[in-house]
Amino acid sequence: MPDEIDRGAPLCLIHGRVIDGLGGPPIDDGYMLVEGATIRAVGRAADLRPASADARLVDVEGQTILPGLIDCHTHLVYSGFRSLEEIDRCAIETATINAILNAEKILRAGYTTIRDVGCIGNVAVAVRDAIAQGKVRGPRVVASGRIIAPTSGMIDTLPSHWERRMGLGICADGPNEVVKVVRQQIKDGVDNVKLGASGVEVGPYAYTWMTTMSEDEIRAAVHEAHRWGRTVAIHCQSYDAAKYALRAGADTVEHGTRLDDEAIDLFRRGQTVLVPTLCTLFSVLELGEKLSLLPKHREEMAVNHPLWLDSLRRAHAAGVPIAAGADIGNRYPHGSNARELGFLVRAGLTPMEAIVATTSGAARALRKADTLGALSPGKVADVVVIDGDPLADIRVLQDQARIRLVLQGGRVVAGSLWERAQARA
Ligand SMILES: [Zn+2]
Repeated sequence: MPDEIDRGAPLCLIHGRVIDGLGGPPIDDGYMLVEGATIRAVGRAADLRPASADARLVDVEGQTILPGLIDCHTHLVYSGFRSLEEIDRCAIETATINAILNAEKILRAGYTTIRDVGCIGNVAVAVRDAIAQGKVRGPRVVASGRIIAPTSGMIDTLPSHWERRMGLGICADGPNEVVKVVRQQIKDGVDNVKLGASGVEVGPYAYTWMTTMSEDEIRAAVHEAHRWGRTVAIHCQSYDAAKYALRAGADTVEHGTRLDDEAIDLFRRGQTVLVPTLCTLFSVLELGEKLSLLPKHREEMAVNHPLWLDSLRRAHAAGVPIAAGADIGNRYPHGSNARELGFLVRAGLTPMEAIVATTSGAARALRKADTLGALSPGKVADVVVIDGDPLADIRVLQDQARIRLVLQGGRVVAGSLWERAQARA
């Protein structure tokens, strides 16, 4: 089995149900041929050409073949923190170790790519490179640095008479300061710039209905990041934050707690993708009391609950592109990222739409749809094989025991077959 599969020999998964990640009709008795790091062919098993007969066949009957899952909103350093202050108290050394352990958990859950949208120091860049170099196991990481937000805004946790050291965020005020931090982060190797344009439930000062960055600051950051070929993700929970982000041409609006008709219209006329992060909401509603989360955090979330779901419902109805991001790690543990699909379905997406949001839709949000997120010839062979049918019950994706194989760039990197092979070796 997988221990016999070396990268040189073509690998053919056969007799599985193929879901292409693009929303096309599933192929019930399908095959997928992988050569090297690339998907060569996908089709009905009956049409598998004899020329492919030299490939190593892996029979996956009764199982589903999907693109490797993608999470657009993760925080690798989060590890059971209950407040932003707790995150800021975490030493960078501890944060680095946590991030490495969390990356492996996410990979084992079938996620072959993640975007980290805010870490302590420059941990996500370091973890991204360590994974790419094969030093540690984990998904491909699209890395951000610290979250950029204004004084007293999203990530400001300390009174001004306390000196700020290396936390989750970096305060910047005015277009010039914001641009300077963006440039510093680009020098430090980020792929993505994360801005906090509104308050956040978990923050001590600013509320989610407050827009804390000016439109000029946001425009300056987006312009500078795009000039360098980097993407921009913007935390938007207020009405104006979303509109500022959309007008500035942000790549993604994160959370989208408050979206009015004008915002939805801006989505439709631009290229910005909505990452609704329903796990952010439901983890607080579900665990807020048990974890003794701060009153502001829980009270704001209760107010935001109907607004959030209504914003998503109207955006979805209007055809706004949606990508999955679980904001995982703060309350739900890393590796339970696929909870987000369950919440998306609960919020009105079909199971197929939730899968698209976690594959090609997510790749689109990361501006990587040319290589990732779909099972089609020429794409990178990032693949998950799961025992069960997520179209019948989306929750099967949350059951790690059902994950048979995870391929990353054509290599078997996780799944129960991989684990069995490791145990034998
Ligand atoms: Zn987040």
